Amino acid sequence: MGSFAEFHARSIHDRDAFWAEQARLVDWKVEPKQICEYSNPPFAKWFVGGQTNLCHNAVDRHLAARGDQPALIFVSTETDQEKIYTFRDLHAEVQRMAAILQDLGVVKGDRVLIYMPMVAEAAFAMLACARLGAIHSVVFGGFASHSLATRIEDATPKVIISADAGSRGGKSVPYKPLLDEAIQLSAHKPARVVMVNRNMVAFTPVAGRDVDYATERAKHMNAVVPCKWVESTHPSYTLYTSGTTGKPKGVQRDTGGYTVALAASIPHIFEGKPGGTFFCTSDIGWVVGHSYIIYGPLIGGMATILYEGLPIRPDGGIWWSLVEKYKVNVMFSAPTAIRVLKKQDPALLTKYDLSSLQALFLAGEPLDEPTAKWISEGLSGKAIIDNYWQTETGWPILSICNGVEKAPSKFGSPGKAIYGYNVKLVDDQTGEELTGADQKGVLTIEGPLPPGNLQTIWGDDERFVKTYWKTVPGKLVYSTFDWAVRDKDGYFFILGRTDDVINVAGHRLGTREIEESISSHPNVAEVAVVGVADQLKGQVAMAFAIAKDTSGLTSDAARKALEAEVMKVVDAQLGAVARPSRVFFVTALPKTRSGKLLRRAIQAVAEGRDPGDLTTMDDPAALQQIVDLIKG
Ligand code: AMP
Repeated sequence: MGSFAEFHARSIHDRDAFWAEQARLVDWKVEPKQICEYSNPPFAKWFVGGQTNLCHNAVDRHLAARGDQPALIFVSTETDQEKIYTFRDLHAEVQRMAAILQDLGVVKGDRVLIYMPMVAEAAFAMLACARLGAIHSVVFGGFASHSLATRIEDATPKVIISADAGSRGGKSVPYKPLLDEAIQLSAHKPARVVMVNRNMVAFTPVAGRDVDYATERAKHMNAVVPCKWVESTHPSYTLYTSGTTGKPKGVQRDTGGYTVALAASIPHIFEGKPGGTFFCTSDIGWVVGHSYIIYGPLIGGMATILYEGLPIRPDGGIWWSLVEKYKVNVMFSAPTAIRVLKKQDPALLTKYDLSSLQALFLAGEPLDEPTAKWISEGLSGKAIIDNYWQTETGWPILSICNGVEKAPSKFGSPGKAIYGYNVKLVDDQTGEELTGADQKGVLTIEGPLPPGNLQTIWGDDERFVKTYWKTVPGKLVYSTFDWAVRDKDGYFFILGRTDDVINVAGHRLGTREIEESISSHPNVAEVAVVGVADQLKGQVAMAFAIAKDTSGLTSDAARKALEAEVMKVVDAQLGAVARPSRVFFVTALPKTRSGKLLRRAIQAVAEGRDPGDLTTMDDPAALQQIVDLIKG
């Protein structure tokens, strides 16, 4: 073990040698000829000339040494199922799924959209795509038909893999009707839909389009589908995320860089070891699920737990019971989940034997101090490691790299810049780099972005360049759109987004998307959505709308009824995950004299804070209405 400072410095100043070393952690069919090609900034190409396969590195590579060891542990407290797939079992299942896709004409470069609950077949689907060199696009199961339709239209998948339903808290959540509606809404139509039928909700397959997974699988029990070797720069997947505009961005990931980045992260950041067990409680629809439920642990030769269910059912000890049962070494969750557990009986934390557990990693949203303290005390002796990253980066930007050098955590900080990331804090007004301690700036990364980060936005290089990249004196930097400060020891503290993105229970949502959805209600003329601090979810969306026809809105009951209707629209279009906590009706929205919505002021008063400088405000009465509504 060396010094982390030295390790980090080498990753920046001796970049190619550093990453050439990390590249040895994975199998290559053809060795890379060039480590990083950055002749056309900001487009970075990693491990150029190399050929590899993500599925090979996650599955096939381990057959010889650990074919009979657990690879995928599927646990559903919704359906009371528990099934262990060894690497050999997983290899067979992935080949069956790949054979089905091949039958449907899927070849390298085709897109396959996956809209599935947390079931083992979702993992087979992702790995089967990677095996064939097809580009998967997983859409979070909590998204509804409109969100799904925009993604189908952008990704133009040849095939969609889905299921009849998911389940939440013991109640089935239908997927199939939302999928059918989304396909109807979308200008692009997939040729085929593979349906995993869990027999939860009845449905009628669309003739000529829908195929039954179980029937097709039965035809391919002995399928042998070799991995397709692809260029390192070949896209492995796209994953849609929210930004300032209403249209989600398809974050595009490569193959070789991503494989190397994840392979390196397992020992260096997570201290994971082959043969160990990784339990990430995220969802495959999010980036954390891609990297640390599916690819990262498997690439590292670890078993991974794929969990369908709530953290508190049958009781708040369920996750800890899994840690005991499967001897979990590394656990990864989100602060919101811990806040949920905090409301349960604390004795559940000491009921199980957690001796296998080395560390609990938390990411996706700020880790507040009371939650960090509660879990640190509850899991006494275990490291609680906050880490900060984004869909775009694919793996952490800030953390503690205990696998390189042990370092203490600081409450409220996700740690230091990780190797590979040349992080700069930039003054948003002057564009100057802020090098002093405790100065607030925008967290940026000097290009080239390290391996595993986004290559571009799917189908829109220009949007990639315009959205994220800025020239600050002498440097081209990627903006994370997060405010941050760095203390004298190099620890960062994240202070929130610089744009209109909000973070609800670790789910990233664009307020513009929610506004567009609310505006589609026939009686909404205008609306502003802001993120408001919430004790449990970190933030919730709150809407302030102007009704077109106010004649019926004379009573609380009438306003409540319209509020409920608006919420239903959001549920149906975007999914309950985006539903605002409240929709208030106002007669005017606070704006500047030039007509710009004063979101920050609305957000401040919605949180009961001082709205600050309002000299540019046109109509103070508009803000006063919001103040009065919040006071109730
Ligand atoms: P996503 O792309 O959905 O992973 O969301 C990324 C955003 O979540 C970041 O830009 C941050 O605003 C926020 N975020 C992620 N991890 C953390 C963390 N550890 N602390 C504070 N904010 C975080």
